[in-house]
Amino acid sequence: MHEKILISGCFLGQKVRYDGEAKTLLNPLLNQWQREERLVSVCPEIMGGLSVPRAPAEINGEEVITSDGDNVTEQFISGAKQALTICQGHNIRFALLKESSPSCGSNTIYDGTFSERKIKGHGICSQLLREHGIQVFSELNMDELVTLLDK
Ligand code: SF4
Repeated sequence: MHEKILISGCFLGQKVRYDGEAKTLLNPLLNQWQREERLVSVCPEIMGGLSVPRAPAEINGEEVITSDGDNVTEQFISGAKQALTICQGHNIRFALLKESSPSCGSNTIYDGTFSERKIKGHGICSQLLREHGIQVFSELNMDELVTLLDK
């Protein structure tokens, strides 16, 4: 059986982003993986109880704050924990998550000032998954994931 991969729902065309849009990732490999039934999609922010659309949020220190000033840290942590539980239920070792998201980013995030500036860092969900041994990749380093799959 093919090894399963956790994937950001917005990559698969699900309109779950804060702005009510998707971030569909057009890559033939995704179609193949879907046919092989190896993709398990999540949106940690929705799972944590946030709605669509919602105010954009950025990580600021230990907290996640929306552009309206609301503290949504709890919802982000809840969504991350649920994503981890799903991974553990499927023995998932790899995740392909949207870069720069405050949940899903794995190399960069926005700097917390809503000024469009990115800094090195990772989202709440990516961090929790990594702490539990799950390797997290993004659309920018998907080739690295491909070389590791099924090894
Ligand atoms: Fe996509 Fe992740 Fe943001 Fe959900 S939390 S919209 S899956 S990047």
